[in-house]
Amino acid sequence: MSDGIASSYDVVDPATEQVLTTVPLADGAQTDAAVARARRAYDSWRRVAPADRGRLLRRFAEQVEHSLEELAQLEVRNAGHTIGNARWEAGNVRDVLTYYSAAPERLFGRQIPVAGGVDITFHEPLGVVGVIVPWNFPMPIAGWAFAPALAAGNTVVLKPAELTPLTAMRLAELALEAGLPEGVLTVLPGKGSVVGQRLVEHPDVRKIVFTGSTAVGKGVMAGCAAQVKRLTLELGGKSANVVFADADLEKAAATAPSAVFDNAGQDCCARSRILVQRSAYDRFLELLEPAVKAVRVEDPSLETADMGPLISRGQWNRVASYVPDDAPVAFRGTAPDGPGFWFAPTVLTPTDPRDRALTEEIFGPVVAVVPFDDEADAVRIANEGEYGLSGSIWTRDMGTALRVSRGIEAGNLSVNSHSSVRYSTPFGGFKQSGLGRELGPDALHSFTDEKNVFMATEG
Ligand code: NAD
Repeated sequence: MSDGIASSYDVVDPATEQVLTTVPLADGAQTDAAVARARRAYDSWRRVAPADRGRLLRRFAEQVEHSLEELAQLEVRNAGHTIGNARWEAGNVRDVLTYYSAAPERLFGRQIPVAGGVDITFHEPLGVVGVIVPWNFPMPIAGWAFAPALAAGNTVVLKPAELTPLTAMRLAELALEAGLPEGVLTVLPGKGSVVGQRLVEHPDVRKIVFTGSTAVGKGVMAGCAAQVKRLTLELGGKSANVVFADADLEKAAATAPSAVFDNAGQDCCARSRILVQRSAYDRFLELLEPAVKAVRVEDPSLETADMGPLISRGQWNRVASYVPDDAPVAFRGTAPDGPGFWFAPTVLTPTDPRDRALTEEIFGPVVAVVPFDDEADAVRIANEGEYGLSGSIWTRDMGTALRVSRGIEAGNLSVNSHSSVRYSTPFGGFKQSGLGRELGPDALHSFTDEKNVFMATEG
C-alpha cells in the first residue's frame, strides 16, 4: 500500500531550460522498502572485515576516478556547474572515499585503567543512516556523509534534492560496480516532504545527516527529537570577508569575486558580506570593480567559464528580490541573454545595517560591501545574525589575524585565502549554521556510538 505520492520530476538543464530526463520520485512505501533493505544489508556490512571494507571503499573511489569526466559532465548539465568546478567535485568524492577507506582499520577504542578488571571501549556503527542532500553541491555533500558512514559500518539511504538527482544516482551505480553489496548505499530520489520526512520519522533510521536551509533543518531537528535520533546539520551561512587596510589589497580584491560568485553564489560558505576597513574602503572598491567585470559568466561546459546560471527560475526570482530597482548597486558584471537562469554578479553598498542583503542568505551572485572602523568593529559586524559558517580575514598582521579568527563565531575561517573545505579537516557551523562536524579525522565518530565494556579479572 502506498501512503505517499508516487510521481516523477522533469530534471532541467539550468543553462538551457531544456528537460534532460524524467526521474521517478519515490513514495512513502518505497522509502520504507529501501530502509528495510538497508537494515538487512547492515547486518552483514558491519561484519565485513575492516580491511575488506576499506578495500571496497577504495574500489568505489577508483570507479569514481574512472567515471570522473562522465560525472562532471552530468553535473554541468544538471546543476549548471562550471566544468572546472564539476571535475573538482567528482574528484572530491574520490578523495573523501579514499581518505575514509583507511578508517575501518583505524577505528580504535581505548583501554582505560580501572580497578578490578579491564575496561575497553568500542565505536559501534549506528545502523541505517539517512542522508538528505541539497541541490547546490550534489556530489561533495553526498560523499562527505556516505563515505565516513559506510567506513564506520553503517548502511546509507540517501535522498538527493529534487532538482539535482543525477550524479547521486550514478554514484550509487558505481558503488555496486565496485562490489559494495546491494542495500549498502541506496539513492532514493524523492520529495523532501515525502522521502526526506520518512527518513526522519522511520525508527530504523538511526541517524540523519541533513544539509540544506536552516528553516527546513529546524524541522528535521524537531523530527529527530521524537526518537532521540542522532543528527548532523549543515545549514545556511552569511559569511564575512574581512579586509584590513594593511592587507595585500590587490590580492584581496582579485580573489573576493570567486569567494562569493563561485557556483553562482549558491554556496553555503559564500563570503557574501565584504567588510573593509574604512581607510581602505574606496581603494578596495576601485580594485574590486575590474575583478567583478572580468568574471566570465557563460555556458558552464566551456573551459573558460568562471560562473554558470542559477539552478532554477524559482532561485532566480528569489535572488532578484534582493536587487530591487532602488537597490544600492555599486557595479555589476555581465551575464548571457536568452534561455537559462543567468544572473550577473552584483555588488551592493548598503548603508542600512538592517538591509536584507546584509542580514539574509541570498544564495546567489550578490555581495554587499560595508566599511568598519577597527578590529572590534569588524568582529562585531561579522558576528551579527544567526549564522556562523565560514569567513576570511585579510591582513599582514598575524596578531590581528589570530585575534579576529578567535573572535569570529564561525566554524571555518581562512586567513589571506578563501579556503573552507578540505577533506582532511573538520567542517561545520557555529550558531544556526549547523550542528556537528563533517570531514576530517573525527567525522567517523559521528557515525558511531561509543560502547564501554568492563571485564572483571578478580573474583
Ligand atoms: P532545502 O532545505 O530546501 O532542502 C534541502 C534538502 O532537504 C532537499 O533534499 C529537500 O528535498 C529536503 N527537504 C525539504 N523538506 C524536507 C522535510 N520536511 N523533511 C526532510 N527533508 C526535507 O535546501 P536547498 O534549497 O536544497 O539548499 C540550499 C540551502 O542549503 C542553503 O540554505 C545553504 O546554505 C544550505 N547548505 C548548507 C551547507 C553546509 O554545509 N552548511 C552546504 C550546502 C548547502
